[in-house]
Amino acid sequence: MIDPLKLVRPNILALSPYSTARDEYKGGNFNALLDANESPYETGLNRYPDPRQAALKKRLSELKGIPSGRIFIGNGSDEAIDLCYRIFCRPGVDNAILMAPSYGMYKVCADTNDIATKQIMLREDFSLDTQALLALQDDKTKLLFLCSPNNPTGTVIPFLQLEDILEGFGGMVVLDEAYVDFSAEGSALGLLDKYSNLIILQTMSKAWGMAGLRVGLAFSREEVISIFDKVKYPYNVNILSQRTALGALDRRTLDAHVEEVLSQREMLRRELPSCPGVVKVYDSEANFLLVQFRDPKGVYDKLISKGIIVRDRSSVPLCGGCLRITVGTPAQNDSLLRILRGEEPAHSRHVTLSRRTAETFVTVDLDLDSPPVDCKISTGLGFFDHMLMQIPHHGGVRLNISVQGDLQVDEHHTMEDTGIVLGKAIAEALGDKVGISRYGFSLPMDESEAMVLLDFGGRADLEWDVHFTRDMVGDTPTEMFKHFFYSLCSGANCNIHVNADGENNHHLAESIFKAFARALGMAVARTSSTSAPSSKGVL
Ligand SMILES: *Cc1c(COP(=O)(O)O)cnc(C)c1O
Repeated sequence: MIDPLKLVRPNILALSPYSTARDEYKGGNFNALLDANESPYETGLNRYPDPRQAALKKRLSELKGIPSGRIFIGNGSDEAIDLCYRIFCRPGVDNAILMAPSYGMYKVCADTNDIATKQIMLREDFSLDTQALLALQDDKTKLLFLCSPNNPTGTVIPFLQLEDILEGFGGMVVLDEAYVDFSAEGSALGLLDKYSNLIILQTMSKAWGMAGLRVGLAFSREEVISIFDKVKYPYNVNILSQRTALGALDRRTLDAHVEEVLSQREMLRRELPSCPGVVKVYDSEANFLLVQFRDPKGVYDKLISKGIIVRDRSSVPLCGGCLRITVGTPAQNDSLLRILRGEEPAHSRHVTLSRRTAETFVTVDLDLDSPPVDCKISTGLGFFDHMLMQIPHHGGVRLNISVQGDLQVDEHHTMEDTGIVLGKAIAEALGDKVGISRYGFSLPMDESEAMVLLDFGGRADLEWDVHFTRDMVGDTPTEMFKHFFYSLCSGANCNIHVNADGENNHHLAESIFKAFARALGMAVARTSSTSAPSSKGVL
């Protein structure tokens, strides 16, 4: 059994770490924290974060089944990678072994710390030669970085092989499991009990969907983790990251997202080989596919020109001709395939329409294929804005609306013209309506109940069975909702039936807009059909 402390640099072993004010105070109920020269005025951020990240570690401990003392939390995995070098490798003296091709940060951190590296080149099939790897070590070799599933190849190192390596290697083995949530092989966390020279890295940047948060994890024996904690910056994970991570560690969201990514990965794995110019699609246990093309640069440029960016790995050893393609949303993967097949790209469904009349100036910016991020709605009517905002949020489309209307007269023109222009924008975005579902209906239940049927069959018609009991909600007259939807029908040339009931007028209106939004999202969803959907053979 290797004693990891014998591998630690002597100066690090001897280091007495900075003791923070919050380290010295051991909890308890104090009325005034006058120990850390912080501002006493509450901003939500005026206090230093917990340097030991106790709450987050407790949650991770439950989630992973690993004691808190075996968990290090860093500013991304990148911090943990850097700390591995700083803890174990004497600059200019010690060395590390890296697999190639693999993640670029192992080499960058080695170079930054003046640590020599040796490369073990993977075989043609991206498998790892254990004997050749172990033969590379010398008495100054302190670290081995393994990545499984590996970036950019997507391959995993089987457990049995991993154990052979752990037994044969004289230094610390750092196993990077950034993509482990996508892999059928699963995590090697269970091996920590058996091997004292194992450090496992995980991250919240990939499957957890929190790359912007910068939270990376390292798992190892207590004695190793306590050295990480000693060397790290005292407050390396800020308060917002700790809080957000704590709130976001919900297994169910992770599982739902991973499930979709995996099914989309297999869809792409099936479909890509028949795309022109594709030479080979490698198997992957991660959320990306490595794909070899006859003309990778040409494909790369073509994708860029259509607004899709992938990672060019064609100059990486063993990856000649390869692009690395991250699995996206179903709509994104669909347009990727269309472009690669040279099909008429799904025409862009992004429309910006402006219309000026004597009474109003309305601009609608609608993208049926973008998620509802940064949507802005401003009509001058607060409650109407709030209702319109339901359309992007519940329809899953991006929508901006700005209206300058004659509100000094009344709300009529503003609401009518918003309906007309929004309707026209929807019609224009749908174009020939090829490959959409056409129909949608929805019935969400809050305190109110609304059913909206929607059909883009080409006839403008509104059926409205709704009874408001108040004239106004906030600044918006309720009678105008019918008129708004009527205008929308005529602008979009669609058929809408609205049936809604409820006591509270605010909730009633809101349930109608939500139901409409859901119906819209369903009706405009792309299908794989190449003809316009019709119930009678013609549209
Ligand atoms: C993306 C990735 C990471 C994540 O790094 P963070 O700093 O945690 O965002 C780590 N390792 C590999 C191999 C990766 O591809």
